Amino acid sequence: MTGWRAPAGGPQTAHFEAALARVGRALDAREATELPDPQAVREAWSFLADQPLPGQGSGLDEVVRRLGDVLVPHGARVSEPGFWMFVTTGPTTASVAAAAAAHVAGTQRSLLHAFNAVEERSLHWLAELCGLPAEMRGLYSSGGSTANLVALGAARQHAGEARGVDLAADGSSGLDLVVYASTETHHTVQRAAGVLGIGRANVRVLPVDRHQRLEPGVLAAAMDADLADGRVPMAVIANAGTTNTGAIDPIRALGQVAKARDTWFHVDGAYGLPGCLDERVRPRYDGLDLADSAIVDPHKWLGAPVGVAATFVRDRTLLQRAFTQGHADYLEGAFTEAVEVSVDSMGIPYSDFGVELSAPSRGVQVWAVIVDEGRAGLAQRISRDNDFAAYVARRGREHARLESLTEPDLSIACIRYAAAPGDRLDALNARIHRRLVRQTPYLPSTTIVNGAFAIRPCFINPRTTWEMVEGFVDAVVRIGDEEVAITAVRP
Ligand SMILES: *Cc1c(COP(=O)(O)O)cnc(C)c1O
Repeated sequence: MTGWRAPAGGPQTAHFEAALARVGRALDAREATELPDPQAVREAWSFLADQPLPGQGSGLDEVVRRLGDVLVPHGARVSEPGFWMFVTTGPTTASVAAAAAAHVAGTQRSLLHAFNAVEERSLHWLAELCGLPAEMRGLYSSGGSTANLVALGAARQHAGEARGVDLAADGSSGLDLVVYASTETHHTVQRAAGVLGIGRANVRVLPVDRHQRLEPGVLAAAMDADLADGRVPMAVIANAGTTNTGAIDPIRALGQVAKARDTWFHVDGAYGLPGCLDERVRPRYDGLDLADSAIVDPHKWLGAPVGVAATFVRDRTLLQRAFTQGHADYLEGAFTEAVEVSVDSMGIPYSDFGVELSAPSRGVQVWAVIVDEGRAGLAQRISRDNDFAAYVARRGREHARLESLTEPDLSIACIRYAAAPGDRLDALNARIHRRLVRQTPYLPSTTIVNGAFAIRPCFINPRTTWEMVEGFVDAVVRIGDEEVAITAVRP
């Protein structure tokens, strides 16, 4: 076979090596140098936003030139070693190579081929890495938002079926469904409740203790009050690492409260589930065996490119009943009984388990991360990130002019400069944060913990070094001292 060539005059469908090498050179340069903030050099790229629709194409070389010269050097700062705001980061090289390969050679997760096989294998590996029950089966989607939606869709279907109603087929049944979560639970749960017709108002947002964890007694009281009023508890959500502070709820105790009331138990581990690879924290994950569903985002702590999360459930046929599109001649009708060639079957019908039909082979990105680093490498990286947060918290406790607002379970620390009158601390720390992001390479976010304004670094970036973490704490002290001195000399 001599291969195929696109007809002359059309777009390139080959020459990947040259195109990706040019883009790869620009990406490597980005990793090697400290670039100016894109806002400081707007004129270098903003013209791209003003260009009219091209009448004539400029060709592949021009596309690749603009990618390498204009877009890549002026992209998001999320991958920088000091970027600690979001719970996403710049992906590792292995996962980017896998994503690029899949975009061309594994263009769909359906049909029978190597990418389809790796999709399923990587789900098994991911569940095992995260300490989930061996019988759990998974589904990839675009992120934690969709993963939570799918899990709660399963919970909703389950609650209906337990009462003889097929909610996906027949729609609203008059069941007064209620979801239980804490104030620290991610708001994607509210959105899922809205989309699934449960209603955001029917998410009971329960208060947490001073370590940002949901207490089982608080949950039990809320569920019992609803049961007494004739409502139907649909799902209890426990956090295996909150987005705000990294707190891990008492998973087993919450699971027992849910099970005692025949209620679906969901564990949101979008960020924090891989934290169980750090054996010092693993006991805090006790109780995952009670989970009916769990989610984890490989695009967070595992360093896959943004766009991949996994939902795990015990029985994927429940997902199929919740999310089926019904029969379609252009899909099922196109396949034969005999499986002789790769196009004779959809393979594992992932498209019936969630809300996406066409979808990339995302599993290969997760597979690449795990093949690259192995369980031991990932455990080491995750433990190191937890060490970073523990170090920042310890400096916060021990330094005379700092304060630590949390005892980190995982890789998020919350500290503040505290050498000023209490009523000025929030504004002072807000000013310190502004100066950090404008004048230093350290880009933490801010949050409120137990009512206090906090500077919050979230360490998940494989590029971060000890030097950066130490430099960050030193910078908070230095800027805080300067700000206090400035205020002191003001008349
Ligand atoms: C980030 C996050 C989500 C949402 O995930 P996306 O991938 O951003 O959609 C949900 N839950 C938790 C705990 C998260 O940290």
